[in-house]
Amino acid sequence: MAVAGACCDTLAAVLKGPGEGAEPALFLDEDGALAIVVATLPTPGGLGFFDKTASYCPFCGAAQRIQDNQAQGVDS
Ligand SMILES: [Zn+2]
Repeated sequence: MAVAGACCDTLAAVLKGPGEGAEPALFLDEDGALAIVVATLPTPGGLGFFDKTASYCPFCGAAQRIQDNQAQGVDS
């Protein structure tokens, strides 16, 4: 898999986003790896979210490119 998110039409469509201001729960992070939002947290500054890097496509099961597998913890 050369590029994360390029394995199937379903994932490609999801990554494009649903439009109309909605945010997809799957996206490519700054390293180009497939990330999935696993939790959200309301904060005074807006909705925070936690994401994790996915090793496999949730739709077709294809292995995804992992840029940095040593990353740990979550972003907010
Ligand atoms: Zn796929």
